[in-house]
Amino acid sequence: MARGVVEAGSLKRYDLYVDGTFQPPSQNARFESVNPYTEEPWATVADASVEDLDVAVDAALRALEGDWLTLGGAGRGKLMHRLADLVEQNLAHLAAIETSDNGKVRRDAEAQVALVAKWLRYFAGLADKIEGRVVSEPQAEYFVYTRREPVGVVGAILPWNAPLLLLAFKLAPALAAGCTMVVKPSEFTPASVLAFAQYVHKAGFPAGVFNVVSGSSRELGAALAAHPRVSRIAFTGSTQTGISVSKAASDHVGRVTLELGGKSPQIVFADADLEAAVNGVVAGVFAASGQMCHAGSRVLVEQSIHDAFVDALVRRAREARLGDPTDPLTDIGPISTEPQLRKIEELVSASARSGAKILCGGKVSPRSGYFFEPTVITNVQQHAQIVREEVFGPVVAVMPFDREDDAIEMANDTPYGLAAGLWTSNLNRAHRMVDRIKAGTVWVNCYRVASPAVPFGGMKTSGVGRENGLDAINDYLETKSVWMDVSGGKRDPYRISSSSSESSESTTTRESNPSRGDHLDE
Ligand code: NDP
Repeated sequence: MARGVVEAGSLKRYDLYVDGTFQPPSQNARFESVNPYTEEPWATVADASVEDLDVAVDAALRALEGDWLTLGGAGRGKLMHRLADLVEQNLAHLAAIETSDNGKVRRDAEAQVALVAKWLRYFAGLADKIEGRVVSEPQAEYFVYTRREPVGVVGAILPWNAPLLLLAFKLAPALAAGCTMVVKPSEFTPASVLAFAQYVHKAGFPAGVFNVVSGSSRELGAALAAHPRVSRIAFTGSTQTGISVSKAASDHVGRVTLELGGKSPQIVFADADLEAAVNGVVAGVFAASGQMCHAGSRVLVEQSIHDAFVDALVRRAREARLGDPTDPLTDIGPISTEPQLRKIEELVSASARSGAKILCGGKVSPRSGYFFEPTVITNVQQHAQIVREEVFGPVVAVMPFDREDDAIEMANDTPYGLAAGLWTSNLNRAHRMVDRIKAGTVWVNCYRVASPAVPFGGMKTSGVGRENGLDAINDYLETKSVWMDVSGGKRDPYRISSSSSESSESTTTRESNPSRGDHLDE
């Protein structure tokens, strides 16, 4: 049995991972994690208190100064590659846990765990390339350079829809930058992140670099966001919670990256490859049972192909195989949590009550497990709740449009701006549309493609900052500017000094009158 996991009767038992050890929580409290397919508890998980969180933050703070610091970038990168190896070697194990905890179909879970390794390797390659600059100055008196240092302890707050991959978005750049981390997984899906900690441990990361504090209380996430010794919060979840996180962090001027909700449009023009577009819409809203922040849950279809498109989409929805997420042939697994299932049910029922046409699905599946049938809805208006609110389920609303301008107006008529899909064979139109769509990602003739090299994040209420891509590492670094007076002269202490405004003339003046120095009038 792996470290940190023991059998407790028929349940697996997961403990906290703090300061390099697997340990029960201080008050010995536990909660159960429910498998959304069997609707039965399958694991008992440490229920941390805010005091446990404090211990983890202190460990992460100490780790910033210890062996982790002396390893340097190359050493950090080496450990990250070792962790990526372990993730790849244990891909099936981690994917199985993700499936038990969250209901993700096995082939998607395996693909996501493989991406975790890819993310670690991408950022491992950056760990030894963090450089400051010597700032070129016209005057000789100062030698000026910048250093880039880790921001400190990072608090990662994770949702339940893709715990390991969303952890990798945060952990890989943070480790590369030399930060340490305290992770608070969702109370619904804590196990895969605690299992991942076994491999962090095995890879040989110094104690305190990576800590996982699981808990059932909402207080825990709030306490992490507000923690004065946590320098940056990296959060993925709902917009509403993201706002609370941002407010809590701002009380101590904590930095935040927020990856929040969306109501992403997929725009299908008559000149698109219809089959490819339907396939892309399936990928955007039925994959992962629609539980994706970037779900393409509003489909705008050019009027002339609307009916043909809807028919094809309904056919694909009916063909989708719901069932055991561990079966490699299953397309759609259960919804991760019962409250989420009820939320989807309520949103769809409300749309039917207000006159929407439910062409297929529209209800909780009679099979056991938290299944919602893939649902295609038409006859809805822009202001309808189902068109405006994040459903986070396999539910898509389809609306026709007449002209390109109408499609843009409808696409942008949302408080969100996370992603968009565009289906057209007209290159000029594609460029025009990309220019006008207000979203952090636009997929053209594709959807739900991800890479550690490509920035991801939202405009408007879909978030703050970008995860992934070369620049993501900057979120985890602070710039320190260093000025060194190499002249040995004295300066007038009552005048601000600048190195750039005056020429060598001032150097001469300085030599003849060392007390004047090199000055800038305010
Ligand atoms: P939340 O945004 O509430 O939860 C996300 C994470 O934040 C969880 O770890 C949660 O902990 C934690 N958390 C909750 N309250 C606070 C707080 N005040 N301060 C700091 N952290 C906090 O999502 P839910 O799980 O409640 O889902 C609600 C809706 O959010 C879904 O129906 C869906 O529409 C949307 N959602 C969007 C996601 C996205 O990727 N954009 C991901 C998940 C959900 P705990 O689980 O212990 O409460």
